Amino acid sequence: MGRLARLREGLLVAEGDPELVRSKLQAFSRQIPLLYFMLLVNTTAVAITHRHSAPAWLALYVPAALCALCIVRCVRWWRVRQRVLTDDDAVSELRKLLWLVGVLGTAFSLWSRLLFPYGTVFEQAQVAFYMATTLVGCMFCLMHIRVAALLLLSIVILSFSTVLVFTRCPVFIAMAIDMTLVGVALAVIIQLYCQTFTGAVGAQRELQASQQNTQRLSDDNFRLANIDSLTDLPNRRSFFASLRAMSEQTFASSGGFNVGLIDLDGFKQVNDIYGHASGDLVLQEVGARLLALAEPGLFFARLGGDEFGVLAQHKFSNETLVELGERICNALSQPYLVAGNVAELSGTIGWAAFPDAGTTVTQLFERADAALYFGKESRRGTPVIFSTEHETRIRRSSLVTQELRHADLEAELFLEFQPIYDLLTHRPMGLEALGRWHNPRLGMVRPEEFIRIAERTELILRITDVLLRKALDEVARWPSELFLSFNLPAIDISTSARARRLIDIVSASGVPPHRVSFEITETAVTRDFEQAHSALTMIKQAGCRVSLDDFGTGYSSLSYVHRLPFDSIKIDRSFVTDVDSNSASKKIVKSVLDLCRNLGLECVVEGLETAQQAEVVKALGARAVQGYLFSPPLRANAVDTYLRPAPDRGLTVAEAQAQS
Ligand code: C2E
Ligand code: CA
Ligand code: CA
Repeated sequence: MGRLARLREGLLVAEGDPELVRSKLQAFSRQIPLLYFMLLVNTTAVAITHRHSAPAWLALYVPAALCALCIVRCVRWWRVRQRVLTDDDAVSELRKLLWLVGVLGTAFSLWSRLLFPYGTVFEQAQVAFYMATTLVGCMFCLMHIRVAALLLLSIVILSFSTVLVFTRCPVFIAMAIDMTLVGVALAVIIQLYCQTFTGAVGAQRELQASQQNTQRLSDDNFRLANIDSLTDLPNRRSFFASLRAMSEQTFASSGGFNVGLIDLDGFKQVNDIYGHASGDLVLQEVGARLLALAEPGLFFARLGGDEFGVLAQHKFSNETLVELGERICNALSQPYLVAGNVAELSGTIGWAAFPDAGTTVTQLFERADAALYFGKESRRGTPVIFSTEHETRIRRSSLVTQELRHADLEAELFLEFQPIYDLLTHRPMGLEALGRWHNPRLGMVRPEEFIRIAERTELILRITDVLLRKALDEVARWPSELFLSFNLPAIDISTSARARRLIDIVSASGVPPHRVSFEITETAVTRDFEQAHSALTMIKQAGCRVSLDDFGTGYSSLSYVHRLPFDSIKIDRSFVTDVDSNSASKKIVKSVLDLCRNLGLECVVEGLETAQQAEVVKALGARAVQGYLFSPPLRANAVDTYLRPAPDRGLTVAEAQAQS
């Protein structure tokens, strides 16, 4: 390969790898002062010895100009020595360096060539010696930049060694050969050195890359461990870590802060109706809406499912906390666009304040949860601040749980029955069994309370078994046209095995299955739609009937409900309370009655207390009704009296009541 081609190749290789060029230039930069020092000293020495033999311009001005140039370059080096080169800078610096080597190499060689003929043989030998030592010294300084070293070698050999050869003096010819050979040997050494250097830079680079990789991996792991991948909000772990840190710091500084738990109302339904992908979109949107509300000192996190957490770093007054909670609830209750449909959701927040509600992570979390629970039960879509009322509820709840665990359920549980009345025939159609619990220590415990508490544990399964058996024992004694309506907790339709067990209890009782109707609440079916569907289908196939209880209190639409095999729907009593005075309630009751008729479902209107309410719902087309107006829930023996014909008039109590 020709020198020029080699030079180009060297340059090209270098340009292909600017990072390597940068490392080389940095290494070379450290030798620059030495290089100029050597040039200055050597040149000055030659100029001094030639001051009488050579003309002034050659012995004084030219070397002075060359030395000045060296000093200028040295000063420039001093100025920029701290500069950090970019990859682009490196390539252009290399080009400049090659030009400089070319120009200075040519200038010094030319000067010595012109100076050589002057003076004695000693002075001539000094010039030759000057060129040889300076060449070796400079090549050593340029050893990191192989192309520059080769360029310099080529210039000196071509311009100066030829001068020595043309002297025809054997000593000078030997010197020229010597100089060339030493130069070539140096070039080989530099070549080998450059290879080692390139290898070392490569290894260093690999090490850095692997360190960066390790750092990136550990960053990724940190992210995965602390960020919820769906919403990009901090996750449960991160929330609890912050909560812990905040409690510790605030404890030390005797300040305050607030913890909020947010639960979405209606999310389950979106998931069931539109699918999990749409559910994910809703959660992402919720995450984005919460993030938009974040500000310094206010953090949001996703705790799992449709539960979110918020930490408010300042001690807020109750008014501010309610105002902030309302802002969050408002943001969450704006419509969501999913799969081309508009979904309506809302969020409820329970707040707990440090230190009023608690000072430990567990206390704060439990109390925010208690406030949330209270909100979900009675004030959905609004913020609730933990209060002593909730505290009392927690205490009562753990007391009831304790007693329930140790209760003799067989002895303490019993039933009352409330007739479901036919407005056309004025006769009872069936009776709804309502569980009752009398505990020696607690006295009578409301069914809503003990059922809710039992539902949090496996105890509910035993309770249902005992109550269902007791209810079926009673049914066996009723006239055969009356059916039993029995309330089922959500868990009873959550597995096929559980549904199977209910069917077995009914078969074992000897009561024909068509006389048994199971009431399931809307919230129970929306917990796991697919499972509810298969359990209800099993119950239906066994010959029992199923009824949707408390319709209108959840979020389901009738079209959704229609996908489940219900025989009847019970309109919740909240719509009935003001059906005679509130036109909205009246419209709702009417539309549900109409829809049931169209879908071929029976409809029971619950909670009728006044004759006016009864008249209104009758006019709207209701036939099956229930409520204190017709009968309160009755003890088993009172049911007997209610159903037994009075000996004197031959009418049942119910018929007599209807006639009066
Ligand atoms: P529910 O299934 O909606 O039962 C009807 C509730 O309304 C009963 O309350 C009944 O006494 C009451 N009620 C009936 N007519 C009227 C009326 O005209 N006005 C008013 N204000 N209330 C009326 P109860 O017995 O306290 O039961 C409350 C809830 O507890 C039930 O609501 C049901 O969800 C649950 N529950 C009751 N017994 C059982 C049971 O054996 N198993 C299960 N899983 N849940 C039960
Ligand atoms: Ca019921
Ligand atoms: Ca009900």
